[in-house]
Amino acid sequence: MPEGKPDTKSDNNPDHKGNSELDELLSFHGYMFFVIGINTFETPRSSAWVGSSKVHKDDFMDHNGIFSADTLTARFPEPDSIPSDACWILVKDAGVYITAGPVPTIFVPGPPEAHARSGLLIQYLGHHEDIPCYAAGIAEPARAQEGMEYAGVRELFGKIPDEELAIASFAARMIMFDRNTRFCGRCGAPTRQLRTERAKLCSDCNLITYPRISPAIIVLVRNGNRILLARSPRFPPGQYSVIAGFVESGENIEHAVRREVREETGIEITNIRYSGSEPWPFPDSLMIGFTADYAGGEIRIDNNEIVSADWFDRDHLPLLPSKMSISRALIDQWIARDSPC
Ligand SMILES: [Zn+2]
Repeated sequence: MPEGKPDTKSDNNPDHKGNSELDELLSFHGYMFFVIGINTFETPRSSAWVGSSKVHKDDFMDHNGIFSADTLTARFPEPDSIPSDACWILVKDAGVYITAGPVPTIFVPGPPEAHARSGLLIQYLGHHEDIPCYAAGIAEPARAQEGMEYAGVRELFGKIPDEELAIASFAARMIMFDRNTRFCGRCGAPTRQLRTERAKLCSDCNLITYPRISPAIIVLVRNGNRILLARSPRFPPGQYSVIAGFVESGENIEHAVRREVREETGIEITNIRYSGSEPWPFPDSLMIGFTADYAGGEIRIDNNEIVSADWFDRDHLPLLPSKMSISRALIDQWIARDSPC
């Protein structure tokens, strides 16, 4: 891309949900994430916005998702200067460097200039245990990173603590935001990082650009003692999962839930209830989980996004997604809740 031209794939571009991101989402709800326990749902406002029925306490999961970087606390304005004891995460492309050895960690010693031959970008992430934490995006390592290994963020699952995995994914996400918003999406002028909030400001027209978040719904549909599961062509052989898809501009989340189920399976639903959420920063999804009840219709698939769909009872479930996924959390919750014990 020529210098001075805005990147059309930038965070300013609303038409961003290309096939690669759809693939990402579908792969995600087939493969990833993990289960936390069931909790009660006591927020009174919640029953008002999720639909006409009361929220059943067992519909809600205390599910943050493994990529929720909630151990970081953002303090704005950012520190005036970067302290010498700041913690650094080295990002290159969609991966990070970790220290090698029996207890690998994403936190590496600074300054970041020592690690980058070119293309250094710096993003404040937040404070981690009172220490400011920064992502350093490097285009080219300065040298062979002695004592370090490079890995894609998702490859690090199980190799480093979940808390660090969440921070690593957030760091990669913020460096991507930095790279994708070097120029204003409206006028093409260079932008600069704001220190008072996580955003970029255009140097010419003053447009402010924030990191993009793309909401996506995921829903478990019940029909008596059965649930609706569908199969994407991207899934491993035999695997099914619950319905998922991106929220479109101009619709609310409940509408998106109804539309996705209707479009992908021909089924109408009612009684939509919020169940939990999780971030998926590849690049920028937020998965919002629901449970709903069958209201009518016959299964009719599009043979594009979905190649098979059916109702399954507890004793005849197909191959399910990994226990790391919110989709599996929704299914496991249904199994536990409806089990005769
Ligand atoms: Zn501008």
